[in-house]
Amino acid sequence: LAKRFLGLEKNIWIEFSALAIAHKAVNVGQGFIDYAPPHYFIDLYKETLDDPNILLHQYTRGYGHRRLVDAISNVYSPYFNRKIDPLNEVLITGGAYPSLFNCIHAFVNPGDEVILIEPFFDCYEPMVRSAGGIPRCIALKPKPESTHADCSSSSDWILDKKELESLFNPRTRLILTNTPNNPVGKVFTQEELEHIACLCQKHDVICISDEVYEWIVYDENKKHIRMSTLPNMWERTLTIGSAGKTFSSTGLKLGWTIGPSNLVRGCQIVHQDCVYTCPTISQEVVARCFEYELKRLNSPECYFNYISKELLEKRDKLVQVLKECGMKPVIPDGGYFILADFSEFGDQFQSDADDMKDFKFVRHLTKEKQLATIPVTGFYTADDRHLAENYIRFCFAKKDETLDKAIEILRKLK
Ligand code: PMP
Ligand code: GLN
Repeated sequence: LAKRFLGLEKNIWIEFSALAIAHKAVNVGQGFIDYAPPHYFIDLYKETLDDPNILLHQYTRGYGHRRLVDAISNVYSPYFNRKIDPLNEVLITGGAYPSLFNCIHAFVNPGDEVILIEPFFDCYEPMVRSAGGIPRCIALKPKPESTHADCSSSSDWILDKKELESLFNPRTRLILTNTPNNPVGKVFTQEELEHIACLCQKHDVICISDEVYEWIVYDENKKHIRMSTLPNMWERTLTIGSAGKTFSSTGLKLGWTIGPSNLVRGCQIVHQDCVYTCPTISQEVVARCFEYELKRLNSPECYFNYISKELLEKRDKLVQVLKECGMKPVIPDGGYFILADFSEFGDQFQSDADDMKDFKFVRHLTKEKQLATIPVTGFYTADDRHLAENYIRFCFAKKDETLDKAIEILRKLK
C-alpha cells in the first residue's frame, strides 16, 4: 500500500454495515432512506430507459452531462443569487464522496493544514491525510447544562470562536464545513457561518461546504444558509451536493460541486484523469428529476419542501422512545440522524488502547440485540475521540416497519 494510505485502513461503514447484515440486525445505523423515493423518480427512470433519442450506453460530457449541468444551473441559480454557468461552475461527480475528494486533492499540498469541525463526516480526515494535509480540529461542544437533561438540541453544540480563530494560520489551506451536519444534525446559524467566512477571508482560505442535507431542516426559524451566498464567499467556496440525498436514492451515486470557475477548474483536473465521466443514465435521470421539481420549487408539493415534513414525524417518534428508555437524545434541527447518550447502559464497556466504548456498545447491540447503530467516535480524530465515547448515532430515515422493530428492541433494553 502506498505510504499515504497507511493508517487509513479502518472504515466504520465497511465494518458496521457488514456486521448488521451478518447478524440480520434492524438497520437504523447507515444513513439511507429505506422506503420509496419521490413518486416521479421511477417513472422518469423508465421514461429515460425507453427514450430512443439518447445514447444512454455511451460516454457523455466529462465534466457533466449537458442536460444535468443545465438543470442544476436552473434550479440552483436563484438559491445562490447569481446565474451559475453550467459549463464552468458545475462539476458532476460520482457522489458527494468524490466531490469532497476532488476538492481536497485539488487544493492541498503536503504539509498544508485543513480545519475540520468535529464531529465531521468520517471521510474528511482520510481524504485530507491521503493528500498529505494535516487536519487541525475543533470540536463542537455541547453546552454543559444540556448534557444533564434527559434530552437536548443539536443547537446546544457550539463552536468556540476564540478556539476557531486560533487554528487559522499561514499554513491553513482549507476549512470543511457541513450544514446541516452529519452526525449531530446541527444547522449552523448565520452568525456562526459569518464568523467562519470572515476568518476565511482574513487568512485567504478556501471553504469546502458540504451541503448534502440542504433540504432537510425541521425548524422554520432555522433556514439552511449557503456559505457561498455570504458576502465575498462565492469566490472562495466550493459547495457540494448529492443526488443520493436530494432524491432519497443513495444508489444513484451522483454528486456535484458548484463554485467559481477557477476553483471548479482544479476539481475538474483531478476528476478528468480519475473518473473522466459519470454514468450517462443516472445523469439523464437526475436531470429529468430536477426539471420536474424546477416547475414547482415554491409549492409545498415540491419534494425539497416536503421531505422534512415526512421525516419530522419519524424523528419525533424515535426521540420519544429514546427518552423513555433512558438514552438521552440530541434532537437534530436538520439531517436524518439522532445522537443518543447511552451512559446509563454502558458500564460494562470501557474505552481502552484498542477500542472505544461506543464501538464496543454498538457491536454488542448489533450482535446480541440485532439493532444496528453507528459509533460516534468514528466522526472524531484520535485526539478528541474521548469527547464522544458515550454517544451512538441513529438514522431515523426508515420506513415505519423498520422504526417499529427498532423501537421494540429499544424498549426491551432496560
Ligand atoms: N457528506 C455527508 C455529510 C454525508 O452524510 C454523505 C453520505 N451520504 C456524503 C457526503 C457522501 O454522499 P454520496 O453518497 O453522495 O457520496
Ligand atoms: N452518509 C451516510 C451516513 O452517514 C452513509 C455513509 C456510508 O454508508 N458510507 O450514514
